[in-house]
Amino acid sequence: MIAPMSDLNRLRVKPGDSFDPAAVDPQDDSLAPGNKEETLVKCEQLEAQLGELQELLYASHSQKLLVVLQGMDTSGKDGTIRHVMRGVSPQGVRVASFKQPTTVELEHDFLWRIHAHTPGAGEIVIFNRSHYEDVLVVRVHELVPKETWQKRYDQINEFEKILAENGTTILKFFLHISKDEQRERLQARLDDPKKHWKFQHGDIAERKRWDDYMAAYAEAIRRTSTERAPWIVVPSNRKWYRNWVVASTIVHTLENLKMEYPQPDVSQEVIGK
Ligand code: AMP
Ligand code: MG
Repeated sequence: MIAPMSDLNRLRVKPGDSFDPAAVDPQDDSLAPGNKEETLVKCEQLEAQLGELQELLYASHSQKLLVVLQGMDTSGKDGTIRHVMRGVSPQGVRVASFKQPTTVELEHDFLWRIHAHTPGAGEIVIFNRSHYEDVLVVRVHELVPKETWQKRYDQINEFEKILAENGTTILKFFLHISKDEQRERLQARLDDPKKHWKFQHGDIAERKRWDDYMAAYAEAIRRTSTERAPWIVVPSNRKWYRNWVVASTIVHTLENLKMEYPQPDVSQEVIGK
């Protein structure tokens, strides 16, 4: 059993609604189907279901799925991908991670490098960070003038409209952690030699801009949550709940596509000795 979509819909930001990160408790787990152990069992079922739905997506070869993951450092973008996609064949999913743009990328419009990674027919693509960085980090650090990033919300909506009208289903997840939770996770990276590589010197400077980032997320999510490409705000302090929300939303969404296996006529085929 997975939660009814109507419950999960409560996490979606409705088009035109304002969004205040402070009004969503990152610790919340109220939609979970049970306690942590019970939810982990559901997650395993969902991961298996997702594996089957991916095969169907690939076989029917008409739909495309784009999953956008955004969140502050340590919010769990990598962990979400690792867990939620566990049941999917490595052939069935592609991850595109967007880092600081290269010189060549900066010589083009901000969507140029993004468009090339969007899914083709039958594909699931996950964006680990995305074009939204161009209204988040870019805004917080004033990497381009305000009049440039201000225009990008409309440009993003137009871009996502093009993708949607050409058969792409888009889900955008904001992995919402608290500032305290981030402190613990950053400290864990410093305490564990196996995690040192994940720690970047700049992470501490970014953390100091927490409120600016929250303001940037609030505006980005308010202005770009649409019917065709909704934002889902995922309380993410609890990793098991985060994974369950993301997995159930993706499974529901793929089920709603009502895909069918192609049925070519094989009645005349004979396999010899
Ligand atoms: P990480 O996800 O920890 O590997 O870090 C990737 C870094 O690249 C983050 O600090 C992002 O903010 C940064 N980044 C991603 N996209 C952009 C962009 N369009 N402009 C500037 N920085 C970016
Ligand atoms: Mg990082």
